[in-house]
Amino acid sequence: MPNTTDLLDAGPGHLTSDQRAELRAALVAERARLERFMPAEEEVVDGVLADAQYMAVLSALQRLEDGTYGICTRCHAQIPFGRSIVLPESEYCVACGAVR
Ligand SMILES: [Zn+2]
Repeated sequence: MPNTTDLLDAGPGHLTSDQRAELRAALVAERARLERFMPAEEEVVDGVLADAQYMAVLSALQRLEDGTYGICTRCHAQIPFGRSIVLPESEYCVACGAVR
């Protein structure tokens, strides 16, 4: 009998749990790095952080939690792990990233 728990744990994407853990670690490290350059809290208007890179990192972490990470948000193609680990915050596949 197949172990459905393992299948679910792998998520809807093509990434292994090890790969997703590696990507999550990379994103968390990047978030920490960016937060060191954040303006003081009182300087952030309405809690909106304008830094696009930071928002991209948060968004990518959210997609990891949602299980939608690794799918291009434009064409819904699977993004290869080799690209994701280089640009973990990217929401686009290679082709869509190139035409952006
Ligand atoms: Zn795409």
